Amino acid sequence: MLATQPAIDTIAITRTFDGIEAATHRVISQIGGMASVIREAKIAVLKPNFVAGRSAETGSTTSFALLKAVAAEVHACGAEPVLCETPGTEFDREATYTILGVEKFCADNGIRIVRIDPEGGEQDWIELRPAGAKSLRRFRIPRLLCRDPINRVQEACFINLPVLKTHVVSTMTLGMKNPMGILPRPDRRAMHTFGIAQCIVDMNRGLKPDLTIVDGSVGQDGEGPLYGDKADLQVLVAGRDSLAVDLVCCQLVGIKPRAIPHLKLALEQLGKPSWTQVGEDVSMIKQFRLPEQRSLYRFIFWLMYPLDYPYSWMAERGKHFCTTLYGTGLVGTRPQINEASCTHCGICVKTCPLPNVIDLKTLKVNYKTCQRCLLCYEACPENAISVKGYSGARRSS
Ligand code: SF4
Ligand code: SF4
Repeated sequence: MLATQPAIDTIAITRTFDGIEAATHRVISQIGGMASVIREAKIAVLKPNFVAGRSAETGSTTSFALLKAVAAEVHACGAEPVLCETPGTEFDREATYTILGVEKFCADNGIRIVRIDPEGGEQDWIELRPAGAKSLRRFRIPRLLCRDPINRVQEACFINLPVLKTHVVSTMTLGMKNPMGILPRPDRRAMHTFGIAQCIVDMNRGLKPDLTIVDGSVGQDGEGPLYGDKADLQVLVAGRDSLAVDLVCCQLVGIKPRAIPHLKLALEQLGKPSWTQVGEDVSMIKQFRLPEQRSLYRFIFWLMYPLDYPYSWMAERGKHFCTTLYGTGLVGTRPQINEASCTHCGICVKTCPLPNVIDLKTLKVNYKTCQRCLLCYEACPENAISVKGYSGARRSS
């Protein structure tokens, strides 16, 4: 996990036409097999992208089929798969897991969920100070990813499972950005505050996955990472060097890596990696549309993070400025019921995976508990629910 990179990586590309599970087993075999990743590790920490309660079918989150196949490979090597992921700061972890069905999925597939303290309590975290970092000079990673201090044995390996999609803040989110979700929220706040592009490069100087498999079974372009357009790429890309994996992903979606600020900095500061490409010979699958550059939106989004420093000092532990702001219902992507078109059929209430979010009597949404999954918006037969706030959200049918 810490600085274990071969000089020349093997990057494998495979399509998912025969199913995501079969494709995952194939791509793991193409990069040398799971045993070459696990080595002496007893556990494999799986880091999917569960940034919010939006299903893999929308191209927002990592597919369960991919996770299932990875977990089966880890079990076959005699190691234990462990899932470790905390959604974006504006979303609640337990509610997100409920919407996605993470608990049942993990129970059915022998994956242990590790719920580390998202606020960075000392018992769960260990600090890294990567050499050469320019902005993120120190950050914490889960203690379970570190070497056994007595035997110096690598207890855990780190398997990074991002989604091939765009991002309204970082332009794209691929292998290099995905490990951000395993950092405690105060360190993520620092990354947003001090310049996310440089901080992603700095993070990757200290935290190097043993394997990255990018889930492009669906993917998303436009206003990703949650409300962009489904891309239907049907591809997986795997390798050990996250930068090399990301460069290959850019080729598949017709994006120049230097158009992605953190990849541009990574190429300048870390140098262009070398790799051997195996698997299928795939040219550009889809020309991705990058998110529109809305300077005001980006500034307001950025401002939430420096403001969170004084806010979180005063607020109850675990409360953040963005969650309070989103809870007002005045900002962010959010559903709103139009009384004139609503027939009070109750379908939205039944569809909502969380209790007591929509009040059918008043037709109000409780924005303190709503997780903005937009399932109610998709389900309403009268089109009586609209989506407020800046996003690319559109009805899928
Ligand atoms: S599903 Fe639509 S029409 Fe039915 S109660 Fe909800 S908002 Fe009203
Ligand atoms: S109210 Fe709608 S958007 Fe909010 S959690 Fe329920 S289904 Fe999702």
